[in-house]
Amino acid sequence: MYDYIIVGAGSAGCVLANRLSADPAVSVLLVEAGGRDWHPFIHMPAGLAKLINNKQINWHYETEPEAALNGRRLYWPRGRVLGGSSSINAMCYIRGHARDYDEWAEAGNRGWGWSEVLPYFKRAEDQQRGASAYHGVGGPLSVQDLRYTNPLTAVFLDAAAGAGQPRNADFNDADQIGFGHYQVTQRDGRRCSAARAYLSGIRARTNLEIMTSTLAHRIEFQGDRAAALVVQRGGAEVRLEASREIVLCGGAVNSPQLLMLSGIGDEEALRRHGIRPRVKLPGVGANLQDHLDICLLQSCSQNITYDRTNDLMVGLRYFLTKSGIGTSNIAESGGFARSSRAPDARPDLQYHFVPALLDDHGRNRLPGNGYTLHCCALRPRSRGSISLRSASPGDPPVIRANYLSDGEDLEIMLEGFALSREIFAQAAFDPYRAEEILPGAAAQDRASIIEFIRTKAETIYHPVGTCRMGQDEDAVVDAELRVHGVRGLRVVDASVMPTLIGGNTNAPTIMLGERAADLIATRSARAA
Ligand SMILES: Cc1cc2nc3c(=O)[nH]c(=O)nc-3n(C[C@H](O)[C@H](O)[C@H](O)COP(=O)(O)OP(=O)(O)OC[C@H]3O[C@@H](n4cnc5c(N)ncnc54)[C@H](O)[C@@H]3O)c2cc1C
Repeated sequence: MYDYIIVGAGSAGCVLANRLSADPAVSVLLVEAGGRDWHPFIHMPAGLAKLINNKQINWHYETEPEAALNGRRLYWPRGRVLGGSSSINAMCYIRGHARDYDEWAEAGNRGWGWSEVLPYFKRAEDQQRGASAYHGVGGPLSVQDLRYTNPLTAVFLDAAAGAGQPRNADFNDADQIGFGHYQVTQRDGRRCSAARAYLSGIRARTNLEIMTSTLAHRIEFQGDRAAALVVQRGGAEVRLEASREIVLCGGAVNSPQLLMLSGIGDEEALRRHGIRPRVKLPGVGANLQDHLDICLLQSCSQNITYDRTNDLMVGLRYFLTKSGIGTSNIAESGGFARSSRAPDARPDLQYHFVPALLDDHGRNRLPGNGYTLHCCALRPRSRGSISLRSASPGDPPVIRANYLSDGEDLEIMLEGFALSREIFAQAAFDPYRAEEILPGAAAQDRASIIEFIRTKAETIYHPVGTCRMGQDEDAVVDAELRVHGVRGLRVVDASVMPTLIGGNTNAPTIMLGERAADLIATRSARAA
């Protein structure tokens, strides 16, 4: 019996485990399907390239064939280890645009406007550059400037300026627009995952138990109250009781799956899998939104990219001195820009520059040297879904992203891709530019570029929205992240975002965890 059971030790789950167990009077259990984060490539930032395909610490999901992407199944890595996806991500620290949060609040989600969430971003943060109106110091999540950047990163930023894009030294202050270096979630050259930030200092707490290699199967109810979590542990099913709350932090793919396995979702769909419906919430698994990304790949005439580095020397230097290429997050710089179709002042395009050839998430190693520019449209209109494949918790759910099902998303990508090419064409790249590899110089007309996008676009790993916060009948949680129609059950992770924010999603998910911890603590103080 525990007071709180948290399912999933990812970006949000680690925050909650820390904040809730800060009260020695409550007992907290954190359940994680994956193992401990012992792998050295988790902690060495550049090791991320080696983790992308690692089946031990990665759920290794695939979408169903995507109709607008030539029927391709897209690879969806998600972290399955302490720290969740924050243990395998690219560490770019981005919050999104202030207006994104004001829109959440305007949709009826009280307390989630920018002025209300900013204090939680700051509370989480330990900003290397010091405190300011926008940044916090002393928090668990270390945000730092990169210790090492490739010479091509500076070239890229000059090229962006040459293409008329403003420079931006901080994407997380008043103005998001422009190009610059990403700040990263690192401490002294090591990855600062949510586990590192929020769990490493509190292992001695006797009121916090962390169970790894434990897969949550379903929630059991007493009347309308979530009373127990059934997990698989060491080959057997075990029932764990929660006296106050169960909090799902399994991420945008797994949290809706777990709700459905527990009888919460669309009644007809649940019956089809032999699951007795308990709460009718047709919105569970709906409203899936993700950033679809298209890469421009250019050959480099000089041997200065990360394609042919000596891994042994990089590793040695890193482990001895925490310096050099090993500290790079590879996506060292990027930017935010507006297409001509942007409906308001917010940037609707994001770029990540990689001084290496990057095809198929880095799983397809290309010969030679080169550099890559990612571009994604920030507020897609297309909506997908997560649904059950079967009633077995071990079966991966069905992921239908429905990318580009709304034609406007394609138009914005086309504009974004045109800017990618314009940047690579600038004089700053003259000493380095060899032939264009993908799509290749022959692809110039609209039809060829559309075909290129359909053949090569991939996720940039930001699925959200599948347990959407809201008050309407398709919403899954209320503004306090409590699941509608039951007691003692919340969802706190990227799945509750009503709409995808304009940027990377780790810091926003950590902010959700911070604010949820206060909501939970305030409510239980009121009840006591
Ligand atoms: C390759 C990659 C690169 C990325 N790069 C960036 C970046 O540079 N910057 C950025 O801001 N964001 C990035 N992201 C996105 C960001 O990391 C995620 O949005 C964020 O981590 C999501 O947090 P979460 O808490 O919702 O889920 P997660 O962090 O994925 O955590 C979910 C946890 O729950 C566990 N779990 C799930 N189901 C169960 C179950 N049934 N039983 C027990 N445990 C369970 C999982 O194993 C996992 O540990 C990236 C993501 C990926 C995959």
